Amino acid sequence: MARKKKFHLFENIEVIDTAAKGKSVAKSPDGRVIFLSNAVPGDIVDVQTGRKRKSFFEGKAVKFHKLSEKRTQPVCDYFGVCGGCKWQNMKYEEQLFYKQKEVTNNLIRIGHLELPDITPIAGCKEIYFYRNKMEFSFSDSRWLTNEEIKSGQDFDNKSACGFHIPRMWDKILDIDKCHLQEDPSNDIRNSIREFAKKNDISFFNPRHQHGLLRTLMIRIASTGDIMVVVQFFEENKVKRELLLNHIAEKFPEITSLQYVINHKGNDTIYDQDIIVFKGTDHIFEEMEGLKFKINAKSFYQTNSAQAYELYKIARNFANLKGDELVYDLYTGTGTIAQFIAKKAKKVIGVESVPEAIEDANENAKLNQIDNVEFFVGDMAKIFTKEFILQNGNPDVIITDPPRDGMHKKVVEQILHILPKKIVYVSCNSATQARDLALMKDDYQIIKTQAVDMFPQTHHVENVVLLERR
Ligand code: SAH
Repeated sequence: MARKKKFHLFENIEVIDTAAKGKSVAKSPDGRVIFLSNAVPGDIVDVQTGRKRKSFFEGKAVKFHKLSEKRTQPVCDYFGVCGGCKWQNMKYEEQLFYKQKEVTNNLIRIGHLELPDITPIAGCKEIYFYRNKMEFSFSDSRWLTNEEIKSGQDFDNKSACGFHIPRMWDKILDIDKCHLQEDPSNDIRNSIREFAKKNDISFFNPRHQHGLLRTLMIRIASTGDIMVVVQFFEENKVKRELLLNHIAEKFPEITSLQYVINHKGNDTIYDQDIIVFKGTDHIFEEMEGLKFKINAKSFYQTNSAQAYELYKIARNFANLKGDELVYDLYTGTGTIAQFIAKKAKKVIGVESVPEAIEDANENAKLNQIDNVEFFVGDMAKIFTKEFILQNGNPDVIITDPPRDGMHKKVVEQILHILPKKIVYVSCNSATQARDLALMKDDYQIIKTQAVDMFPQTHHVENVVLLERR
């Protein structure tokens, strides 16, 4: 039997759409879908495919005959190498068009839902420097560019601080300027790297698990507060203090300078003691006069300005009169609950992370909000008949689950309660569509609006208002 050809070259084909995970789509002459990692809708390209997967190809444009008018020049030197901003080569209005299209397609194709007139996507005013939190990794095995490799030069110091190369856990792309977080973010990172190199403070080697400097987290809040957390792999008091003193002196504007010594195999700091070196153990975010105290482990929406827009949309959709009992499911640190509290009789927030609920309680006190109450537990287990009996039948449910969407039991429970209104905030419209499909006999979609929180990426949030039929 003749062996099937594994690879194909398709010439002169047009890229017609975007797809999940920041990819784009073309079709082979016989109509099969090809997912491309490096092209923009409107490009005319030659495509080299890899092995055929079930019913589609994955491929790469190897020659560009025509570049799409939807393109724009990426602002970042690392575009295409760094995995962070895959859509930076697309004009922002096109990014928004494709985000909205993805949401609508998911609701129709996955959910088979009847949609009202769609409210246009809420784009961001700031399409760069919009993140309030960034995490960088240190490594002694910097990713070398093609030019550097070709140059034949020896690079004896390969210390790097930046981002992981996609799918390469041990290779770090050294970043001089990232366009996602405002200054002094780049200055702080670059200054730490240079100081460490000069003073022989070693960078982590992930393969052999040695070296001092491991990760760096920088948070810059909308209040101007700055938090810096340096993670070391081992304790070396002299070198640690040398570096932290340098940071403190060079950047006196840092509100909270902290460090962790983490000798574990993985570099998550959420199960580690975080120690204050200078300043406080927290910073503050502020939204509409509400203050949110954030420590190194707290969750807070990463785009502060757009989180405000998202919350306003959710609040408008809920259109509270003041006498309602509202449930805020997946409340995190209780931000939505507090944001709407003034307009409700009472808000009950539910969340699985105990530390988040500690923050939620502390923030509610700080904001002198006394009509909110928070509960900790896995939603599928805690959100039961007994829970409703104890806390009352909600008039409105706001739900903001993680990417997996809601557990089936949670949807069933909502359908037992049958609140008048549900506002479903989602960061994954595919799982949102799946969940909404389960509710469509009882609920009608009244409004749907996508919100862009992450310009230059394919990520998109969607807010849906449901009313009982
Ligand atoms: N609404 C919040 C947070 C949304 S993120 C805000 O706007 O800031 C989703 C939240 O769901 C996270 O805080 C996460 O910890 C929580 N979560 C994830 N799985 C959960 C589960 N099974 N039960 C309860 N909460 C869960």
